[in-house]
Amino acid sequence: MDQESLKRFTQSIDNFRTAEDLDQIVDIFQTILSVSNIDPDSGINIYHQLINLTSGINWCKEFQTKINEKLKEVDETLKPEYNSQNIVIVGAGPGGLVSALECAVMGAKVHVIEKRNYLSRNNILHIWPFTVHYLTSVGAKIFYPKFAVGGMDHIGTKQIQRLLVKICLILGVRFHFGCTFTELYADGNKEILTRCDPPISPTPCTLLIGGDGVSSTVAKRYDFHRSSLSSSLCIGITFNFQNNHTPEELALREFAVAQIYNQSMFKEIQDLYNICLENLVYYQGETHYFVMTIKKNSLSDRSVFKEMKTNIPELLDLSNINEDKLLSVARDTAKFCGIPDSCEFMTFQDKPDVQLFDFSERIQSDEAIKLVEITRDEQKQLIKEESGTEQGAIGVNHQQQKEQKMASFSKEEGEFSKVIVTLVGDALLEPFWPLGTGCNRAILSALDAAWIVQEIASKKPIDEILKIRQGCYIKMKNALAETFTSPEKVCLNPHTRYTTRRLEKDIN
Ligand SMILES: Cc1cc2nc3c(=O)[nH]c(=O)nc-3n(C[C@H](O)[C@H](O)[C@H](O)COP(=O)(O)OP(=O)(O)OC[C@H]3O[C@@H](n4cnc5c(N)ncnc54)[C@H](O)[C@@H]3O)c2cc1C
Repeated sequence: MDQESLKRFTQSIDNFRTAEDLDQIVDIFQTILSVSNIDPDSGINIYHQLINLTSGINWCKEFQTKINEKLKEVDETLKPEYNSQNIVIVGAGPGGLVSALECAVMGAKVHVIEKRNYLSRNNILHIWPFTVHYLTSVGAKIFYPKFAVGGMDHIGTKQIQRLLVKICLILGVRFHFGCTFTELYADGNKEILTRCDPPISPTPCTLLIGGDGVSSTVAKRYDFHRSSLSSSLCIGITFNFQNNHTPEELALREFAVAQIYNQSMFKEIQDLYNICLENLVYYQGETHYFVMTIKKNSLSDRSVFKEMKTNIPELLDLSNINEDKLLSVARDTAKFCGIPDSCEFMTFQDKPDVQLFDFSERIQSDEAIKLVEITRDEQKQLIKEESGTEQGAIGVNHQQQKEQKMASFSKEEGEFSKVIVTLVGDALLEPFWPLGTGCNRAILSALDAAWIVQEIASKKPIDEILKIRQGCYIKMKNALAETFTSPEKVCLNPHTRYTTRRLEKDIN
């Protein structure tokens, strides 16, 4: 590298660590690769090459120590088997990103498809000691020095996404931001490729991981059986205020409390502000964040609804909400908790960041994994035409030709191409936010999903892979912070996360 390029390289490396906007992060990383002549498609070799070039930079040395520890867990003898796997991950939330990170460390080729091209979620996620330990072990504090300072057990959604995106980029993950995943398809050579909107260059897939949140396209497209857990009406509100970090604000106490455990506090807020709550969570991070569940009548008393509709989606629809009244409920709750009036609402999509949700029904998938048949585009077209011509709208000859062609597909091409599809995070199990399980279980399920790469590499029979993943899911569903008594011992192998004896029982 000549002097000029070296200067640009060193500057970009430092800017990369502190960059905040997604565009900025991606641009700076592209500059780093182009200045240092590193092939963006070279996967984990990107990490090895960058580490060689940055040995004099402190944060890079620290990062190297962390990642080298992780690399020790990787079975070197299986390297060719890892390298031959093409993992497509849908969604760049914590679940998708941790899946990507772990698969990349093993040396698989990893593509992440994310429909948004920005990171904007202000909400703060509760993290268990296990999650703090995991994120620290992959270098979270390097990219976000405030992480886990003073026993802080939460992190903003965009902060966790930002730091994981940076780590993934260094580990050679390819990102497709602003792309919506639609489906997989097989080409003429039976290779399974990825279809997105807008299209991306041909991206093969040997394992599809759906980390695409509650409304998961992957779960829907591949018919994962999902059920809904219904409870009585439960309306949630989240809101965020600017944190000016004044001494008054810094002195505020964080809490997560349910009405049954602190009746006097809930009575006080009701008496003072006519706000009747069931749960209230306040965290102080980059923002002052609140999530609470509130009684419908309380919202009605405060004139939040324009009309009292019996249909809940209609009742909570934005068109039925008096925004100023909703903001005043949020402001009064914040005032009760000590937030000064000088703290403005944060904005989300150019509006005050106050959102209403219906938590009465939560979706969970019954299956964590499936072996899915992927049709060739040509086959699919024929099947589509076949089903559209049931009433005999086409001539007999044409029909016969199609039948012959379909038969020849199965004869010449053998069976449909098959691929393993698994879900992680909210796509698998929708959390109840005030309980703070979402991010933690997303990370656990991501580790469970990445373990599939290890099993494919060690040539485990497919049936067994499916069983183990399903067994992990059953354990993961019930995992709580206390489940992990020795967070430092947790690694990719599920037996380090879940009790071996019970895991074997769930598997069998
Ligand atoms: C708007 C919002 C607010 C939330 N607020 C809170 C909160 O206040 N407290 C709390 O505890 N939890 C909250 N959660 C849940 C919490 O963020 C998740 O539990 C946690 O982030 C783990 O989720 P995940 O990685 O499985 O999915 P998510 O974080 O939801 O990420 C899924 C990603 O997939 C992308 N995606 C979806 N469909 C496609 C597609 N077809 N193609 C490509 N990309 C796609 C989405 O853009 C998104 O980035 C919130 C979730 C959302 C969506």
